[in-house]
Amino acid sequence: MKQVDDSTSYIRAGWLIDGSGKAAQKDVLLVVNTGQIVFIKPYAPEIIPANGQLTDLSFATILPPLIDSHLHLSMSGAVDAALRENQLVAGCEELLPYIHRHLKQLFDHGVLAVRDGGDRHDCVLEFMAKGMSNYPIAIHSPGRAYHRAGRYGGLIGRAVAEGDSPAELLMRRNHQQDYLKVVNSGLNSLKEYGHETPPQFSKDELKNLCELAHSKQIKVMVHANGRVPVQQAIEAGCDSIEHGFFMGRKNLERMVEYGCTWVPTVVTMKAYAEVLEFEGNISGAAIAARNYESQLEQLRQAKKIGVKVALGTDSGSPGVLHGESVFEEMKLYGKAGYSLVETVQCATANGAELLGLADKGILQTQAAANFLVARGTPAQLPRKLSYLENIFIAGKPSALYRKNPVK
Ligand SMILES: [Zn+2]
Repeated sequence: MKQVDDSTSYIRAGWLIDGSGKAAQKDVLLVVNTGQIVFIKPYAPEIIPANGQLTDLSFATILPPLIDSHLHLSMSGAVDAALRENQLVAGCEELLPYIHRHLKQLFDHGVLAVRDGGDRHDCVLEFMAKGMSNYPIAIHSPGRAYHRAGRYGGLIGRAVAEGDSPAELLMRRNHQQDYLKVVNSGLNSLKEYGHETPPQFSKDELKNLCELAHSKQIKVMVHANGRVPVQQAIEAGCDSIEHGFFMGRKNLERMVEYGCTWVPTVVTMKAYAEVLEFEGNISGAAIAARNYESQLEQLRQAKKIGVKVALGTDSGSPGVLHGESVFEEMKLYGKAGYSLVETVQCATANGAELLGLADKGILQTQAAANFLVARGTPAQLPRKLSYLENIFIAGKPSALYRKNPVK
């Protein structure tokens, strides 16, 4: 008989999607020791010692925890105008409880790593510095974003005065951060379809900023819509383009050439169209719906061209809720021609690479045995992700997870 090691446990899964983009594997066995995956192989009963502890998840699909590579932790996706207004003017003391609530919603939906898209008072950085999170969620935040005085960006950041360089401002920051956010265009117009706004910074300013940031091991995320603002940001050497509506095919090709990641946030415009229609702004809703369709088309092209895409939702935007919008965005990737495993890869491994996560977002040998348990086969995904069976942390069901996330 084989030797039984008390610290080893065995987990049988009906299906495994490992996050690498590889096809789902059927009936697998994970051998876990002290919270780490020792190996993964096809299930066979004889592998398990007589007294070995087996957790039977043969009724379920397991996959790595999800990553939302673009959201706003200090904002709710609420459509209540008064609440939104209040959140936009509130200070950190008022916003910290919201951050707690949003993290709970994210955890309940299996999202265990997030990258914030910026907040004007650095509240998320303050929250992180105080170690206030109750959940095992890796948080990355740029703090306040930089935008040009008089241009879009005041809701999530601070203005760079004319004549002042964003690189100089970065030098003066004293927060610990691994990301920097720059706003280099306006928002999508709801009056004129596809209207392009001019870039907020020059290519040289962006280039200096990226070089300085990279020398401090800080990555640069750039909000940019439209051809010129996106082109400048890619050529300046930024790490990711956020949104990228109406950037055009050439910029998709440029992203491959420069090794830049795209975070398309498709769901924002779909949700916005629904919110505007509800509010009776029919012409605005129609343009938001067209923005959404055009972004889906760009995502289709990105897949064909081979752009590295990390899934982000922009949760906190009107009608885009923390946690559940990740599945909404995943469904849209399906519409754009991504297979389920490719979609999962964008929401796990590609996000992990962008965020610089050590475990790389893939369920593999030597990775932590952290995974989501979704009842049923991969054919029932991503739908079943919205009510997970369980979340395993270090090979054990998390005590923090309750099956009904509404409670
Ligand atoms: Zn955002």
